[in-house]
Parts: sequence; structure tokens; C-alpha cells
Amino acid sequence: MGDHRADIKIKFSMYGETETADMWINWSVGSGECYEVDQRVIDFFRDAYLKMRAKYDDEIFKLQEQDVKTLDDHNRDAYARMQGQEPRPKAHVACPKCHSEMEYEDPHMVLASYPPKRVVICPGCGHRDYKVEA
Ligand SMILES: [Zn+2]
Repeated sequence: MGDHRADIKIKFSMYGETETADMWINWSVGSGECYEVDQRVIDFFRDAYLKMRAKYDDEIFKLQEQDVKTLDDHNRDAYARMQGQEPRPKAHVACPKCHSEMEYEDPHMVLASYPPKRVVICPGCGHRDYKVEA
């Protein structure tokens, strides 16, 4: 029984980032059939995950800050401009059926109801609905 020294190298990649470790650990036979992993290996994975995840989240946040469109959205808008159609503005609500972001069917039309409503349409599945504008 007792500890056994092991040299280990870890290369952990996620979201296009890679974290590495080159260290030695104590590997020990635990009680019964339970083999124990050195706490530092667990710590490495936790820290590497948190670091790479934070960087990934920062990049996504920066894209959202810049209001960058996806390529699909850009291309759809470009085709609509070529055909002389105005792209439908985003309604900032998710489709109740497929969760795609819904769009105003007619950017200029508000229904004369109380409260006022606008027709929204889902570019994903075609679902039409009303969005209360209050
Ligand atoms: Zn939908």
C-alpha cells in the first residue's frame, strides 16, 4: 500500500482552447477496490474548465455587444434587399413551438386593439401569433 509517485501530462482542449499540465502526483490504493485520484488532477480539470469556459463566454458576449449577425441572418437580409423586400425586424421573443426568434410580419403594422398587438411570424417553422405591445 502507500503512495506511488506518477509523472503525468494532461492536455485538455475545449472551445478551441487547450490547457496543459505536466506534474507529478501521488497515486494511492484507497480502501477496498476504490482507487483514489490525486486532488490536484481534479483541481486541474476544474480550473482549466472554468478558465476556458470564461474565455468562451467572453467571446460570445463580445459578439453580442458588437451586435454581430450570424452569416445566415446576414445572407437572408441581403437576398431580401436584392429582391426589394424589407427584412422583417426581430421581435425579441422566442417561438412557442420551435424557440427560434420570431419576427414582426409587417414592420409598419400595429393592430388597433387594446392593448395594441403586432403580428409575429417564426422564420423557423412559420408559426404566426400576436405579440402584445404594452
Ligand atoms: Zn417556430
